[in-house]
This record gives sequence, C-alpha cells and structure tokens, in this order.
Amino acid sequence: NSPLSVVDPEIAAVLEQELGRQRETLEMIASENFVPVSVLEAQGSVLTNKYAEGYPGRRYYGGCEFVDIAEELAISRAKSLFLAEFANVQPHSGAQANAAVLHALASAGDTILGLELAHGGHLTHGMKLNFSGKLYNAVSYGVDPESFRVDMDVVRAKAIEHKPSVIIAGWSAYPRQLDFAAFREIADEVGAKLWVDMAHFAGLVAAGLHPSPVPYAHVVSSTVHKTIGGPRSGFLLSNDESLFKKLNSAVFPGQQGGPLMHVIAAKATAFKLAAEPEFADRQQRTLSGARILAERLTADDATDAGIDVLTGGTDVHLVLVDLRNSEVDGKQAEDLLHQVGITVNRNAVPFDPRPPMVTSGVRIGTPALATRGFGDEEFAEVADIIVAALKPSPELEPLRARVRALADRFPLYPTLGR
Ligand code: PLP
Repeated sequence: NSPLSVVDPEIAAVLEQELGRQRETLEMIASENFVPVSVLEAQGSVLTNKYAEGYPGRRYYGGCEFVDIAEELAISRAKSLFLAEFANVQPHSGAQANAAVLHALASAGDTILGLELAHGGHLTHGMKLNFSGKLYNAVSYGVDPESFRVDMDVVRAKAIEHKPSVIIAGWSAYPRQLDFAAFREIADEVGAKLWVDMAHFAGLVAAGLHPSPVPYAHVVSSTVHKTIGGPRSGFLLSNDESLFKKLNSAVFPGQQGGPLMHVIAAKATAFKLAAEPEFADRQQRTLSGARILAERLTADDATDAGIDVLTGGTDVHLVLVDLRNSEVDGKQAEDLLHQVGITVNRNAVPFDPRPPMVTSGVRIGTPALATRGFGDEEFAEVADIIVAALKPSPELEPLRARVRALADRFPLYPTLGR
C-alpha cells in the first residue's frame, strides 16, 4: 500500500505533468471541463472495489447496502435536476448510454435518422464505422448550406422519405439550439421515437439557460463530463415508464456488466452541485463567454483576416470558427493556438473544402475556463489572443505571455500535487 509515486513513478510523473499542463494552459476543448476536488475524491475511492450488477435493491451481489445509497442519490438528484420521471445513471460513457438507447428503441436493421457527422453530429448517431452505422440503417439530415442551421422542413422531408424508427436530435459541434417540439411533431407524424442526445448542452439545461428536451423526447441521453463538469460518464432520462424499463434492461444486462460505483457516487456529487447557485453562475459565464468569443471573432479585424464564425454567433457554450476564407486552415489554427497555450480542436465545417485531417474550422468552448473562474473580461482577453494568433504572421511570444498571465490569475487545483 505504498503511494503511487513509489509503486509506479512513471505513471505518477504523468499525473504530475498533466496537472501542470492543465494549470498552465487554457483549456478550450468544448467537451472538456474541470471536476471539483469533491468529485475527484468520490471517483478515486474504495467504491471502485464493489461489484453491483443489477439496480438498487435488486442486485446480483451481496454487500451492496452502501453503494445502493450512492446510486439512489444519483438517480433522485438526476430526476430532480432535469425534472424527469425516470433516470438511469449506470452508463459508463456517453457512447454506451447511446448504445443502450438504440438497443431499447430499435431492432438491428431499423432505420435511424440523425444529424450528419460532418455537419456536427456524433459518431453514435449513425457513423458508418460505429455500431450505430453498422447495426442500423443510418440516414442523416444536414444543415442548410446558406444558414448552416438545421432546417426542420428538411428533417421532416427526410423523415417522411425514410420512415425511421428513431429520430435523433443532438450534436457535438453545432452552435445553436434545436427545436425539440418540432422534432417531436415530426417523430409523431412518421411513427418514430424521438431521442435527444444532450451530452454537450446538459449543463445549460440544468441551469435553465437552454430549453429542456425532457418534455418532448421519448428518451434523453447525456454525458456528465462536458458542460455539467462531473465525472467522465453517461446517464439516461425518460418520462415513459414502459420505455424506461426497456432502457434499464438495455443498459444492464444488455450493454454493460457491473456498474462503476465510484463513478456513480461522483455523478451523485456532480448532480448535487449542479442544483446550487454557483453552478447557474458558472453556466451563465460559460454562455456569455461564448457570445463574447463569437463577437470578437466576427469583428472587422477578424473578418479582414478571413476569420468568421458559423451561423454568425452562438446560443450555447461553443463557437465554430470558420476559416474557409483564411490562409490558416483548421490544423494550422489548432497548432498555432497550442503554441500560445490554448487547447482547442480542429473541426470540419459543413461542406468543408479542405480534407478531414486538415479542415477549415476550429471548435472553441468556454465550459472549462468558466469553471476556472473566467468572466466576461477574461473571455474578451482570450478572444483577442485567439484573433491575434490566427492573423497572418503572428508574434507568438507576447501572446504566450498573455495566456500564462491569465492562467496564473486563476490557479487550478491549488491543493493538489506539488
Ligand atoms: N454524444 C455526444 C453528442 C457527444 O458529443 C459525445 C462525446 O463527444 C458522446 C455522445 C460520447 O460521449 P463519450 O465520449 O463519453 O462516449
């Protein structure tokens, strides 16, 4: 029982180096966040030792009296946070939550209709190499070539043409809100089930800053680690009892074995924190930070350098930088920002003229920096650094110093590591 630094100094060094990286750079990957120390503590706990196949009160293993309490808490907090009648908190990840949804709502060979991957959809919504594209007949709707927004007339036409069993509303890279009521109307019209994947925007929903899909969708899936800022994992919500029974058996025994009880305990803690006023304040700063980024990335000096933002702005926690008119491509932009200490990911824009490994876009998100404490003033400074880095022939050294000054003003995990 020696400490990690003694048992495995190589891995201990990785942990130390990663902590340093997270502290010294600005994390702007839209799907990432920083969990609080309380969540780290629950997740790195003895609950990792416990097998608990089944559900609270109906386990296939003895000794579950305490982990049952943790799972009951996670379930009841998820239900009250999202005003849903039923919650399953066992999915190990967002992708596994989504596998369970399709398992419950469709049979192999059924048609599913989701947002095209290249237009901001997710792998699990029907990408051909993913289980969702292999097991099901996946068809997709794209965004409008002019507005870059989802056009509900197109969704309806596709639904009527393909008669899917499941319609998927949700995204990994889309800067606007979807019209869940309109999706549900279309689903009802063609006899499909509506599944909303709110993995990205769940934190905004919890804070009341984004419409909730729960009243409209047959099933809602989510991750806990993006805008919510909890442990890496997934969960499911529904208001339909008979569907929910199917979902439960799709998760266990359909997709998974023993639930990760340490992660479930950490989810319970994250959901508890998400009901507090500090959480709403963080989500508010997340949103206004993204709006400030969009404003500065569409100001004259940015557009003169060929920088733009898809749809001209954002309603959520991310912006999609459009570099189709810039000499700098998505890969170069990712590299330049990395050099100044800002971490983002390149992202294809819809109808991207550049190849997928290069791309003409960058996805930039504000959740992690909002968690770190950033407000409007800091987001404005970050936006100015990004614009300066993406202009022709940038001087990187002064930008790197500005990034480091911002990072130093908001110390991360001061009680951890060295
Ligand atoms: N659904 C959406 C919309 C996502 O963006 C993601 C992750 O990027 C997932 C599901 C999958 O989550 P995970 O990486 O936990 O499997």
